[in-house]
Amino acid sequence: MDCLFCAIINGEIPSAKVWDDDMCYAFKDINPQAPVHCLVVPKEHIASADGITADNSKYVAHIFEVIPSIAKAAGAENGYRIISNVGEDGCQSVKHLHFHILGGAKLSENMG
Ligand code: 5GP
Ligand code: ZN
Repeated sequence: MDCLFCAIINGEIPSAKVWDDDMCYAFKDINPQAPVHCLVVPKEHIASADGITADNSKYVAHIFEVIPSIAKAAGAENGYRIISNVGEDGCQSVKHLHFHILGGAKLSENMG
Protein backbone atom coordinates (compact mmCIF):
# COMPACT_ATOMS: atom_id res chain seq x y z
CA MET A 1 0.00 0.00 0.00
CA ASP A 2 1.29 3.43 -0.90
CA CYS A 3 0.96 5.38 2.36
CA LEU A 4 3.31 8.19 3.43
CA PHE A 5 2.78 7.69 7.16
CA CYS A 6 3.16 3.88 6.95
CA ALA A 7 6.49 4.59 5.18
CA ILE A 8 7.48 6.99 8.00
CA ILE A 9 6.50 4.41 10.66
CA ASN A 10 8.57 1.77 8.84
CA GLY A 11 11.58 4.11 8.65
CA GLU A 12 11.55 4.17 4.83
CA ILE A 13 11.11 7.95 5.00
CA PRO A 14 13.06 9.85 7.67
CA SER A 15 11.25 11.82 10.37
CA ALA A 16 12.07 13.66 13.59
CA LYS A 17 10.93 11.22 16.28
CA VAL A 18 9.13 12.51 19.36
CA TRP A 19 7.68 9.21 20.66
CA ASP A 20 7.80 5.55 19.70
CA ASP A 21 6.05 2.58 21.30
CA ASP A 22 4.42 -0.64 20.15
CA MET A 23 1.12 1.01 19.12
CA CYS A 24 1.92 4.52 17.98
CA TYR A 25 4.61 6.83 16.63
CA ALA A 26 4.89 10.61 16.97
CA PHE A 27 7.09 12.90 14.89
CA LYS A 28 7.50 16.58 14.10
CA ASP A 29 5.31 17.98 11.33
CA ILE A 30 7.44 19.00 8.33
CA ASN A 31 5.47 22.26 7.98
CA PRO A 32 4.83 23.40 11.57
CA GLN A 33 1.81 25.63 12.27
CA ALA A 34 2.89 26.38 15.87
CA PRO A 35 6.18 26.31 17.83
CA VAL A 36 5.27 22.75 18.82
CA HIS A 37 3.59 20.76 16.06
CA CYS A 38 3.83 16.99 16.00
CA LEU A 39 1.74 14.22 14.51
CA VAL A 40 0.72 11.05 16.34
CA VAL A 41 -0.12 8.02 14.18
CA PRO A 42 -1.32 4.51 15.01
CA LYS A 43 1.05 1.75 13.90
CA GLU A 44 -1.89 0.06 12.16
CA HIS A 45 -3.08 1.71 8.95
CA ILE A 46 -6.44 3.36 9.66
CA ALA A 47 -7.50 5.75 6.88
CA SER A 48 -9.03 8.43 9.10
CA ALA A 49 -11.22 8.91 12.18
CA ASP A 50 -14.02 7.65 9.91
CA GLY A 51 -12.25 4.27 9.86
CA ILE A 52 -12.19 3.72 13.63
CA THR A 53 -13.98 0.49 14.59
CA ALA A 54 -14.41 -1.75 17.62
CA ASP A 55 -11.48 -3.82 16.25
CA ASN A 56 -8.95 -0.98 15.97
CA SER A 57 -10.14 1.53 18.58
CA LYS A 58 -7.54 0.20 21.03
CA TYR A 59 -4.94 2.15 19.02
CA VAL A 60 -6.92 5.35 19.50
CA ALA A 61 -7.44 4.68 23.20
CA HIS A 62 -3.72 4.07 23.59
CA ILE A 63 -2.82 7.25 21.70
CA PHE A 64 -4.98 9.31 24.05
CA GLU A 65 -3.40 7.57 27.06
CA VAL A 66 0.08 8.65 25.94
CA ILE A 67 -0.72 12.06 24.42
CA PRO A 68 0.08 13.88 27.72
CA SER A 69 3.56 12.33 27.67
CA ILE A 70 3.98 13.03 23.94
CA ALA A 71 2.96 16.67 24.41
CA LYS A 72 5.50 17.06 27.24
CA ALA A 73 8.21 15.34 25.18
CA ALA A 74 7.44 17.71 22.29
CA GLY A 75 7.77 20.75 24.56
CA ALA A 76 4.13 21.80 24.99
CA GLU A 77 4.43 22.73 28.67
CA ASN A 78 1.42 25.01 29.00
CA GLY A 79 -1.38 23.21 27.19
CA TYR A 80 -1.96 22.12 23.63
CA ARG A 81 -4.59 21.45 20.97
CA ILE A 82 -5.41 18.06 19.41
CA ILE A 83 -6.78 18.08 15.85
CA SER A 84 -7.67 15.29 13.44
CA ASN A 85 -8.75 16.32 9.97
CA VAL A 86 -11.18 13.97 8.21
CA GLY A 87 -11.96 13.75 4.51
CA GLU A 88 -12.45 16.40 1.88
CA ASP A 89 -14.20 19.09 3.93
CA GLY A 90 -11.86 18.44 6.85
CA CYS A 91 -8.88 19.10 4.52
CA GLN A 92 -7.24 15.74 5.32
CA SER A 93 -4.21 15.45 3.01
CA VAL A 94 -2.64 12.20 4.29
CA LYS A 95 -5.03 9.24 4.39
CA HIS A 96 -3.58 7.62 7.52
CA LEU A 97 -5.25 8.59 10.81
CA HIS A 98 -3.18 11.20 12.61
CA PHE A 99 -3.61 13.59 15.49
CA HIS A 100 -1.94 16.99 15.28
CA ILE A 101 -0.55 18.19 18.63
CA LEU A 102 -0.12 21.96 18.54
CA GLY A 103 1.29 24.12 21.30
CA GLY A 104 4.30 26.01 22.57
CA ALA A 105 2.44 29.34 22.36
CA LYS A 106 -1.07 30.72 22.84
CA LEU A 107 -3.08 29.41 19.89
CA SER A 108 -5.79 31.18 17.93
CA GLU A 109 -9.30 30.88 19.34
CA ASN A 110 -10.56 30.44 15.78
CA MET A 111 -11.07 26.74 15.04
CA GLY A 112 -12.59 26.98 11.59
P1 5GP B 1 -3.54 16.69 7.27
O1 5GP B 1 -3.63 17.87 6.36
O2 5GP B 1 -3.73 15.39 6.51
O3 5GP B 1 -4.39 16.76 8.49
O4 5GP B 1 -2.07 16.70 7.85
C1 5GP B 1 -0.97 16.15 7.20
C2 5GP B 1 0.25 16.77 7.81
O5 5GP B 1 1.36 16.00 7.43
C3 5GP B 1 0.52 18.21 7.35
O6 5GP B 1 0.52 19.07 8.48
C4 5GP B 1 1.88 18.12 6.68
O7 5GP B 1 2.70 19.24 6.94
C5 5GP B 1 2.46 16.85 7.26
N1 5GP B 1 3.38 16.16 6.36
C6 5GP B 1 3.18 15.89 5.03
N2 5GP B 1 4.21 15.21 4.54
C7 5GP B 1 5.10 15.04 5.57
C8 5GP B 1 6.37 14.41 5.67
O8 5GP B 1 6.91 13.85 4.72
N3 5GP B 1 6.98 14.43 6.88
C9 5GP B 1 6.42 15.05 7.98
N4 5GP B 1 7.11 15.03 9.12
N5 5GP B 1 5.21 15.65 7.91
C10 5GP B 1 4.56 15.64 6.73
ZN1 ZN C 1 -0.72 4.13 6.45
